[in-house]
Amino acid sequence: MPEGDSVWRAAAQLHAALAGQQLTASDFRVPRFATLKLDGWTVNEVVPRGKHLLMRLQGPAEEQLTIHSHLKMEGTWQVYPPGGRWRKPGFTARCVLRTATADAVGFSLGTLEVVRTADEDSVVGHLGPDLLGPDWDMAEAERRLLAAPEVPIGVALLDQRNLAGIGNIYRCEACFLSGIHPAAPVSEVTDLPAIMADAKQLLEANLGPGRRTTVLNARGTPVGRQAGRPGYWVYRREHQPCLKCGTPIRRGVLARETGTEERDIYFCPKCQPPPGTNA
Ligand SMILES: [Zn+2]
Repeated sequence: MPEGDSVWRAAAQLHAALAGQQLTASDFRVPRFATLKLDGWTVNEVVPRGKHLLMRLQGPAEEQLTIHSHLKMEGTWQVYPPGGRWRKPGFTARCVLRTATADAVGFSLGTLEVVRTADEDSVVGHLGPDLLGPDWDMAEAERRLLAAPEVPIGVALLDQRNLAGIGNIYRCEACFLSGIHPAAPVSEVTDLPAIMADAKQLLEANLGPGRRTTVLNARGTPVGRQAGRPGYWVYRREHQPCLKCGTPIRRGVLARETGTEERDIYFCPKCQPPPGTNA
């Protein structure tokens, strides 16, 4: 599952290649839109919304449509020169958009649909404030998190209805940076803005083409990769020593009763004491 930063980068690349361009051909390889042809339509913009991609197009008769896609687990959009050789198998292509200057191909997309731009809320209206959006609203995200105080923070951060953009990597990393065990209920997290600010910084640190290696958060802690130590603080570091205290990192899963997809969590048992312990 991509994090919001990879969707943001995909949108930026697609926007650079397609915005202002007229489609010379379109091919939707999903049954519902197999007969849809958007030849002659102009791409106005490509914007990310959480982990969703919105391509907004303008038709010949001023009609406006949005191609909505979600990468889910395996999906990717790639941009090629016209007629360029694809780097993914053709049978995984779900959407092909051609202009005079570029081919954009969406492979293995988890979601692909076309809606009226005026109806975008029907596909992304449920999302909470977008950590990477121009209208990021921390107070609203905090309000949504606190509406279900019993939910484990590691689950709540992944729930895109609370706030949009965090995937499994950054929920683990953000919990570590705040010293919060991912299974701790939201009500036990004393500083929700801090944990959200860390997640936002982690995402933002990866937006550029050349990823930075070290970012300091407001408390002076290096966020993300430590200088000279590429990788993560805890994500996929099971059995390796915590970079702060040396305790072996542990892996676990959050309980299934939370109603969301079960995903691995990684944490330091010393820096992130389990909920209920007064460490
Ligand atoms: Zn530790």
